[in-house]
Amino acid sequence: MMEPAPTGGAETDAMTMGMHEPAEATSPPSETHCPERLLHGAPALLTYLDRDQRIRCANDTHRRWLGLDPARMIGQRLIDVIGQANHQLASAALERAYAGRLGVYEGEVHRGRERRYVHGNFQPDFDADGKVCGVFTALVDITERRTLELQLHESEQRFFGAFQYAAIGMALISPDGRFLRVNAALCRMLGYTEDELLALGVADVSHPDDFADDSELQRQLLAGERPSYQLEKRNFHKGGRVVEIELSVSLVRDEQGVPRYFVSQVQDISQRKAFEEDLHRERELAEVTLRSIGDAVITTDPELRITSLNPIAEAMTGWPSREALGRSVDDIFELFDATDGQPVANPLHVAIKHNIIIDLASRTSLRHRHGFDTPVEDSAAPIHDHAGNVIGGVLVFHDVSETRTLTLKMIHLTQHDALTGLPNRSQLHGQVGQALAAAARRQQRCAVLYLDIEHFKQVNELYGHDAGDRVLRAFAQQLRRCLPSEELLSRYGGDEFVVVVPHVETVGAVASLCQRLIAHGEETSLGDLPELGLRLKVGISVYPDDASDAETLLLHAETAMCAAKAQQSHSYRFFTATMNERAQARRQIEQALRQALPRNELQLHYQPKVDAGSGLVVGAEVLLRWHVDGVALHEPDAFIPIAEDSGLILPIGTWVLRQACNQARQWQQQGRAVPISVNVSPLQFQHADFYNWLDHALAESGLDPGLLELELTERMVMSGGSTTIERLRRIKQRGVRLSLDDFGTGYCSLSYLRHFPIDALKIDRVFVDDVIHHPDTATITRAIIAMARSLDKQVIAEGVETEEQASFLREAGCAQLQGFLYGKAMPAAAFEQRLRAVP
Ligand code: C2E
Ligand code: CA
Ligand code: CA
Repeated sequence: MMEPAPTGGAETDAMTMGMHEPAEATSPPSETHCPERLLHGAPALLTYLDRDQRIRCANDTHRRWLGLDPARMIGQRLIDVIGQANHQLASAALERAYAGRLGVYEGEVHRGRERRYVHGNFQPDFDADGKVCGVFTALVDITERRTLELQLHESEQRFFGAFQYAAIGMALISPDGRFLRVNAALCRMLGYTEDELLALGVADVSHPDDFADDSELQRQLLAGERPSYQLEKRNFHKGGRVVEIELSVSLVRDEQGVPRYFVSQVQDISQRKAFEEDLHRERELAEVTLRSIGDAVITTDPELRITSLNPIAEAMTGWPSREALGRSVDDIFELFDATDGQPVANPLHVAIKHNIIIDLASRTSLRHRHGFDTPVEDSAAPIHDHAGNVIGGVLVFHDVSETRTLTLKMIHLTQHDALTGLPNRSQLHGQVGQALAAAARRQQRCAVLYLDIEHFKQVNELYGHDAGDRVLRAFAQQLRRCLPSEELLSRYGGDEFVVVVPHVETVGAVASLCQRLIAHGEETSLGDLPELGLRLKVGISVYPDDASDAETLLLHAETAMCAAKAQQSHSYRFFTATMNERAQARRQIEQALRQALPRNELQLHYQPKVDAGSGLVVGAEVLLRWHVDGVALHEPDAFIPIAEDSGLILPIGTWVLRQACNQARQWQQQGRAVPISVNVSPLQFQHADFYNWLDHALAESGLDPGLLELELTERMVMSGGSTTIERLRRIKQRGVRLSLDDFGTGYCSLSYLRHFPIDALKIDRVFVDDVIHHPDTATITRAIIAMARSLDKQVIAEGVETEEQASFLREAGCAQLQGFLYGKAMPAAAFEQRLRAVP
């Protein structure tokens, strides 16, 4: 650029003047002064050079702009004023002018710190012969325009650099939809070369279904209705496949506001779309799962804002999802202490903060949006992404009162017969007791009638179980008609019913009631079945004549019924003392049982337990048998109650434990470690020495304690108080597993259960018997299994006899199955073979 001219004659006043300030004009120029004023005041550096490039004339602007005294410039050679280097730069333009044409120069001039950019015209002057005799020079300051130009250029460079090499696709598109410029990313995205794409229009690459939307938005941009738009649409790749894109489009107009081109940013979102779809599918799946489970579930993001509620959570909080989403969990899930009404902190805060799972304190209530409280049990847990980061939280809770309802329902079920709705055996004992007590107070008689339908099996065999069930229901209806109150009638077993008669005036009155019952009962019929011709046998026992306690009274009525059965002629019999063979039989059994152990008449059989999924044997229940010469002397249900009543169960039970541990140890040594379950009777378990017997059996055999499981009953566990819990803990510490036998027939407080160190629940046979034919039982069984699993208890079902029952239980989430379907209890040798049969 031009160096400052080495003039030396600069006048200091001129240096201080602004370059662009006009020459002082005190008054408008007169016509005579006009050329002079024009020359010196013009906003340009004006000179006249002679043929030898000597300055002949220079205007005053030189002084103002560059601090050069024009008077001193006169006669000097240009090169001396502007310096060699600058002269070199301008030489081409100068030469042009001296050659008779207009020369143009653009470049910098600067003096000191001042820098200016100038545009110079070199105009030749011709003499009369038309020869160049001099050159007019005029340099205009274009610094500002130059700066703007530079800025524009730079930003254009930047834009096009960014445009060309942007990671996302970019295009400039004419208002009529042709590509004006496309970048490399867009070409790659759509599979075209730049030239190919520039020959096309937007319409050529758009999916026809999406083109209309795009055009409409473009129209709105052109009409000035919106400044820009975003759109997800589909384009076609050159190869024909669809490319999902996201467009971001704005419009560039010229100064007059005329649309010049669209700037379009194009992002390939095919992957994101695919991912979204996967995610959506996953969500859907999760949602379906959530919808189908019984618990309420709320999920949140890490800031504890609601991200989902399942329908149960909606119902329990009163917040529909659409309203709850995005709100703080504390707005939706308000907890209170059920005892003192104080607010309880939401456990999710701690769960997320410390990345742990938290169980809610018991006795907590959830406040519904409309103010009412529900007792709940819940747990809070963080949700992790695959990298293990906490990305949210989940609250799982359920209505404890519903558990209560279910418990009540189960109690009803265990006290009432599901088929007829009548009180069942367990309820009946209480009722007979009450009737007895009332009669004793009034010093009156009461009676028990034991009814049995003869050959009822034939009904089942002839018409099927469903018909059999309907007959039993109809039969119960028939009996009820003869009785003042429903509660006096109960179903004792399959086809056995008991009637309690609270007031007995005379024995004759009981006999006539009995005859009425028989007449009505035997008339039972079903419209769609041929005549049933039912025959009844009834036994009657009377308090206080025949017995003074409920148990014995019932027993004697049954004995009388058996006596009636034995005689064709009578359909009912009163109990008589000579019928009391039963009691005698008991005494005989008891005596024989005392000898059974020393005489080696007791054996252990093993019934397989199988994995519900694979069907493989995963354990065995140890069942006691009393066989003499290979023939069962008595069934366990007959002799075990006697052993318990007489206390004989203590030595027998200890023997069972030792024997079973030895056998299991033997299998363990043979490399077939089979977990075994041993039944423990209440008398045994409550004995102060029980732990020592157990410990001894384990130590003596050397059996891995993990292979031993004790089957206890609910009643034993629930009613024992703190010593029971202590004992259970000790046994668990020894490494022995604990399971609850006959689950569902006792108190069955599931939430209570969580306080006991129980590993497994064994669903009682009565449930399994009914799951296929009684929807109520099916529902409850499903609920028991689900709740047991939520308490982390393993579930096993016993008495599985059919494939239908097995698949129901399997689907309901039962882990193990046991029953005749998989094998009856068998001697150790046979069980060993069974083990060997399946690798
Ligand atoms: P439990 O503990 O409920 O034992 C299961 C009973 O159900 C066994 O009867 C078994 O043979 C029977 N069973 C198994 N699968 C099926 C099936 O699919 N259908 C049907 N209908 N029944 C099935 P068992 O062996 O007669 O034992 C009766 C009860 O005697 C046992 O009931 C248990 O309470 C008691 N018991 C048996 N062995 C012992 C023992 O060693 N000690 C004590 N304390 N009690 C025992
Ligand atoms: Ca058992
Ligand atoms: Ca059982």
